[in-house]
Amino acid sequence: MPTLTPTQPSVQDVLLRYWGYDTLRPLQAEAIEAALHHRDSLVVLPTGGGKSLCYAVPPAVAGRTDVVVSPLIALMKDQVDGLTACGYPAAALHSGMTDEERRVVERGIAAGTYRLLFVAPERLLTPWFLDQAKRLQVRTFAIDEAHCISQWGHDFRPEYRRLATIKTTFPGAAIHAYTATATERVRADIIAQLGLADAEVLVGTFDRPNLQYRVLERGDLNTQVVQVLQRHQGEAAIVYCISRDDTERLSAALRARGVRAAHYHAGMDTAARSKTQEAFAAEKLDVVVATVAFGMGIDRSNVRCVIHAALPKSVEQYQQETGRAGRDGLEAECVLFTAPADLARWERLLTMGGGDAANLAAQRALLRDMAGFTSSERCRHAALSGYFGQVYPLENCGACDVCLDERPAGHDGTDLARAVLQCVASLRVPFGVTYVAEVLIGARNKRILERGHEQLPEHGALRGMPLADLQHAIRQLVNQGLLRRTDDDRPVLTLTAAAQAVLSGDVSVTLSSPENPAAASATDEEAGWIGVDRGLFAHLRGVRLALAEERSVPAFVILGDATLRELARLRPATSATLAKVRGIGERKLADLGPRFVAAIVAYSREYGLSTDVTAPAVPVLVTARPKPAGPATGLKLDAYAMFDRGTGVEEVAQATGRALTTVEGYLEDYIAERQPTDLSRWVDDLTYRRVESAARKLGGHQLKPVFEALDGKVGYDAIRVVMRHCGLR
Ligand code: ADP
Ligand code: ZN
Repeated sequence: MPTLTPTQPSVQDVLLRYWGYDTLRPLQAEAIEAALHHRDSLVVLPTGGGKSLCYAVPPAVAGRTDVVVSPLIALMKDQVDGLTACGYPAAALHSGMTDEERRVVERGIAAGTYRLLFVAPERLLTPWFLDQAKRLQVRTFAIDEAHCISQWGHDFRPEYRRLATIKTTFPGAAIHAYTATATERVRADIIAQLGLADAEVLVGTFDRPNLQYRVLERGDLNTQVVQVLQRHQGEAAIVYCISRDDTERLSAALRARGVRAAHYHAGMDTAARSKTQEAFAAEKLDVVVATVAFGMGIDRSNVRCVIHAALPKSVEQYQQETGRAGRDGLEAECVLFTAPADLARWERLLTMGGGDAANLAAQRALLRDMAGFTSSERCRHAALSGYFGQVYPLENCGACDVCLDERPAGHDGTDLARAVLQCVASLRVPFGVTYVAEVLIGARNKRILERGHEQLPEHGALRGMPLADLQHAIRQLVNQGLLRRTDDDRPVLTLTAAAQAVLSGDVSVTLSSPENPAAASATDEEAGWIGVDRGLFAHLRGVRLALAEERSVPAFVILGDATLRELARLRPATSATLAKVRGIGERKLADLGPRFVAAIVAYSREYGLSTDVTAPAVPVLVTARPKPAGPATGLKLDAYAMFDRGTGVEEVAQATGRALTTVEGYLEDYIAERQPTDLSRWVDDLTYRRVESAARKLGGHQLKPVFEALDGKVGYDAIRVVMRHCGLR
């Protein structure tokens, strides 16, 4: 039994006090329960599932000190910063601390101040720490990123192996292992390595409903990436590449197009790396173009987009990297660009990397699964869940390229392919994509005439085809392995062995259309914005940034995006209403409340927005499921924002390009949903009172009797709006 005494706070108290949350997420209660009951556990929750809360709540309830083992200094620092900002007593001990910092923490330990103590695995078993732990009577250990202990995981760290001795060094200790990704095998390995006894195994749902997945064929990558990023202007995005060179090239190309981007890879010195990481955390940088090295320790929860410029090497890795999107539970997009050439590239890298035969075979199998994922026509959510051994419940997720029916249909491109390959053969010396395409469409420019290539039989063979479309098709032939493209400054094309089979007519070729299949539907994206005034949201982001700078902490430590949107939706004008907002605990209320309330009040006054809105809460975890018709999206939301400012129906109709009757419908819904206190902008006071009294006298919900009772002097539109406002309809 837990040693609960009446003086202890409840889980609920602790939750509300430090974080301002009133409910727990799935499995958090069970995980907390296990830690309070001193029962070993393995908790597998997806990124953003709320693992840190699971180990932070129990010691605060029980009034004890628990130890958290964490693999990275950056990760520990972020956790401690985040907890401290909530008023939660936590500290970390790591090699990156100054002597003074260390002394402060040591004094705190001696005084028993902390509820959580973060340490690196190599520090845990030093005599000094053992001594501290004994003094504090530590009996509970949380192991964060527990998959690092397993060779079968995707991020094995040898130093984690030392954790196997916790059970012998601290007899009677309870261990709680936490991870986001773990296949059956890794799970078993974690339990065995840590020596967990009769562990409570809690496995959450791997599906991330707020993520939209797309897999696209790679063509002109720079342009494709820019197109995706245009949907996320001013928002955080990560682009993953295979090699260091790729990251540098792509980030330069993005910067040249005005994107605030920087590269990140393990070949950079530590200072340059932390500079990029800190700029990203401080929201001074929007896009990081990175190799796998950019991983744990990115604690920016409002990443709205994760792009893969090439095939990742395993589904685990893909899940982990896409998992960095939308940790705040708000919608986010994941786009993977791939081409058949990626597999060959990985094969080369694997062979170069060496390793024993068994390991190589295991890696190839992981790669095959990943490639299978991209080429499959199965719902991405369903496929990912399936990979982790879970059944996805929906027929249509409404949040992937397959279910949204965005997959470009292939068409027979055999003739076109043959013409291109034949042309490359006839040219004898290798040329680039554009030159080959120009010859085929029959261009007669200087370059071609000088060489006499207008004489070739292939010259003009594809006359009439737009050059860009043909370039796109040729790139696909490269991706399909029919042409080889050199990897230097002036890449040229040569035939591969596979091309022969096409030229001889034995193999046909399927090509996809060149139109941009990456046009995202805006509707799901809008769901998390219902009722949010975007202008105010942007303004509050500025306030957050200023606060973060003043305090030298990452922006997320101040407030997460989910809370910021709540503020821009509910617009609390007093400390009392602010206290009710999800994500505002006691400390943040006292500490940040005045600044945010002042900003909200000033902004709302300037733009005529209502404050202290009491609309029903939008679920924090926005799901990207197909929604029943109704919730305001797109234009309707724009109309709402204008209504918020008191804009008249006609002006809104003009601005949105919608018919007057449609906008009247919007206004009616707006009144029902948002319940504005005052309709005077749309219906004058006298009319309002006449309609209301007539409607109440007549009873019922019909418009016509009211219209007639008022001798047809008041229009149906006003009657409808007033009756809706009075709750008579
Ligand atoms: P993980 O470590 O599993 O990736 P975090 O612990 O960082 O996830 O939590 C992700 C986000 O969800 C954080 O902003 C956290 O404050 C928030 N969160 C966690 N638990 C809850 C809850 N019960 N209600 C609302 N938000 C929560
Ligand atoms: Zn789907």
